[in-house]
Amino acid sequence: MPFTLHGLPVSNGIAIGHVHLVSHALLEVSHYHVTPKHLKAELSRLDDAVETVRGELTGLKAATASGHAHSEVGAFLDLHMMLLDDPMLVDAARAHISERRCNAEWALVQQMEQLIEQFDQIEDAYLRERKADVVQVVERLVKVLLGHPGHLPPKRRDGLGTIVVAHDLAPADTLSFRDHNIAGFITDVGGPTSHTAIVARSQSIPAVVALRNVRQLVEDDELVIVDGTRGVVIVEPDERVLEEYHLRKAELELERSKLKRLANAKPTTLDGEEVELLANIEMPADASHAKSIGADGVGLYRTEFLFMGREVLPDEDEQFEAYRSVLKSMPGKPVTIRTLDIGADKALNGVNQRMEPNPALGLRAIRYSLSEPQMFMAQLRALLRASHYGHLKILIPMLAHAHEIDQALAFIGRAKEQLKDRKQKFDAGVQIGGMIEVPAAALALGMFVRRLHFLSIGTNDLIQYTLAIDRTDEAVAHLYDPLHPAVLRLVGSTIQTGVRFGLPVSVCGEMAGDPAYTRLLLGIGLRQFSMHPAQILEVKQEVLRADVGDIAPKAQRLLKMDEPSRLREAFERL
Ligand code: PEP
Ligand code: MG
Repeated sequence: MPFTLHGLPVSNGIAIGHVHLVSHALLEVSHYHVTPKHLKAELSRLDDAVETVRGELTGLKAATASGHAHSEVGAFLDLHMMLLDDPMLVDAARAHISERRCNAEWALVQQMEQLIEQFDQIEDAYLRERKADVVQVVERLVKVLLGHPGHLPPKRRDGLGTIVVAHDLAPADTLSFRDHNIAGFITDVGGPTSHTAIVARSQSIPAVVALRNVRQLVEDDELVIVDGTRGVVIVEPDERVLEEYHLRKAELELERSKLKRLANAKPTTLDGEEVELLANIEMPADASHAKSIGADGVGLYRTEFLFMGREVLPDEDEQFEAYRSVLKSMPGKPVTIRTLDIGADKALNGVNQRMEPNPALGLRAIRYSLSEPQMFMAQLRALLRASHYGHLKILIPMLAHAHEIDQALAFIGRAKEQLKDRKQKFDAGVQIGGMIEVPAAALALGMFVRRLHFLSIGTNDLIQYTLAIDRTDEAVAHLYDPLHPAVLRLVGSTIQTGVRFGLPVSVCGEMAGDPAYTRLLLGIGLRQFSMHPAQILEVKQEVLRADVGDIAPKAQRLLKMDEPSRLREAFERL
């Protein structure tokens, strides 16, 4: 029986494909059947994971032996190694795979649960406690297995894609979707400007979130339609609906391909105002795609994605190579690279595991960087070294205090001195800018104007913090409103202060990539828009059709309104 679910549309477009259920809680792994043909491969996947974990444990043992770690640490590692060789764990899991034809993660977790039950019966307290070691070993194995492409299904032969169905996804998971022919995804929770949604949009993967308990309602392999524009998911559609959606999908693709003609057009308004349309990127490889669709540069490179979803963080050289490659893909064009904005919904593996009572208000972004001076210095040196290879601008996230700006600038000064000592080249005049994404920053702009070369408004966080709503929480997503008079005033006054002082101001939050707001932002005075590349052509179309001379006075009047219904009416007439 077909049925329809309604959620929040977070990434436009239509995807038609088969369900692949995943769960992100590490030991709450997904369960799927392995065909007899693939059993051998599944068993070797488990064997490979065992060998990888053995290597990890041996490495850790060597590190503890050469350091001065407590001897107990070595003993635990020995115990974990023994567990890895225990037939009750891995051999039993192998038997589950062959007999039940299930995936390796599932087999391991099933076996772990049986063992834990037996441990619970043991009277000896010490031995009973050892169940934690079994869990840790299984966690290590599952982590390796999940990092292995095996946990996402192979490309389908029927031409349809896979629709990932999860309780929630981390932004770093979504990044790997592009390599797995994932056509779309749907989740139980999530908000429209969560980083998971942002990454989906940047990859043009249709997505609907906040479906509440979709994981309980669909089954592996069922056919679903994901309408990421309307926030609708249709499960097991009938022939007629399916045909209609195939048609709509083809129409959308045609529209997109027509827009491609605009790639080489200069984004200038009807009355000759020149506009810059820049790209937001998450990975260095995104830069060449951005260039191919005519981006005027990179307005925001979120470097935290280089640090997420991995055990060992990138060192200075690895970062330098990544930053340089972006600059090289954009010869002669500005590339704004933001220093680490870790925290809130973007956590580091292991490193940032402190339980925070309220992560969005916690040790995030510049606060985190200032508390990790070694890491921050390595990033700044890598950025400065890369500045020798193009037009780099450095952007600092989430500033609120003058002393944070001063400290960040002092760190940059120190990084420059270190590079001079090392005789490494960098652009001495590299421009430094600040994100305006905390209301305090927008309300006390003078201290930013006096200290920095440029500003970039992060509307995603500015709205979150102004309206006190968690951008990842679907329960308050309906309150997330770029047209709230308070938000518009903060955005408007920041842009206008920039114009008055001759300080370049861009908007790099999602508002800049939504064509519905292009005319309003142009009218307020914005000339630099930074957005995910998939949106550039649609926004360009709006720019080409706009007459700023006509819009500006109306936009000014709109900024002064504080009655939402009148404001919305004026917005629609703009
Ligand atoms: C923003 O807050 O608007 C922004 C661009 O930064 P991020 O989405 O990475 O927090
Ligand atoms: Mg932000």
